[in-house]
Amino acid sequence: MHPPELLGSGGVEKLIRGLLEFRRTALPALLPRLQSLAERQAPKTLFMTCSDSRVVPNLMVSTEPGDLFVSRTVGNLVPRADENGASTGDFAATACIEFALHVLHVDDVIVCGHSRCGAMKALLEQLPASPDLAHLAGWLEHARPSLDRLRRMTTLDPALPEYDQLSQANVLTQIDHVLSYPQIRDRVVHHDIGIHAWWWDIATGDLHIYDREEHRFALIDERMAERMLQRRSWSP
Ligand SMILES: [Zn+2]
Repeated sequence: MHPPELLGSGGVEKLIRGLLEFRRTALPALLPRLQSLAERQAPKTLFMTCSDSRVVPNLMVSTEPGDLFVSRTVGNLVPRADENGASTGDFAATACIEFALHVLHVDDVIVCGHSRCGAMKALLEQLPASPDLAHLAGWLEHARPSLDRLRRMTTLDPALPEYDQLSQANVLTQIDHVLSYPQIRDRVVHHDIGIHAWWWDIATGDLHIYDREEHRFALIDERMAERMLQRRSWSP
């Protein structure tokens, strides 16, 4: 039998070798959990982050299959709602939020940006005008308000490169966009769900959270984790 014609690229080869390794080593121990999840998922958290390959939510917070409902877009963007509560852009991220809230009934929504985000660099430096990048350029418009926020904010860490400061400001912009949908905002106001602004530093593996009292992103260490576990992190 001839092998399928998909081999030959390094990327796919690595995945197939990884799959075999997974079947040999991790899968046997995971099978009971996978079997229990086969009919139904019940994640407690919607995790909205960037498509960047270096952001690996399950690894960052040590979760198992079934724990996170994940939305990934370039730049972890969410088109805001118009005055009628309808999305002003692509429906994918908003559909993900609706499914997570109204079908899965998650308790928490996390918007997580990250360091060295290509989307933020593109926003700062302007994408080359090219028909090949037309959809990407249009998509990044949902992050444009973050440039104004970056200029207004005085509490971002000045030691960070400008694109990382923009990435942190952008997490807050996207939280605003999530909260622009009336049914989501109502649930947050009534503490039915929590909403959290996180930021991942790839080089250090550190997660940061926006501290609303200090108005800045702070490392989630043992002390911060203790504070977080004692209270909801966000109310608009
Ligand atoms: Zn990114």
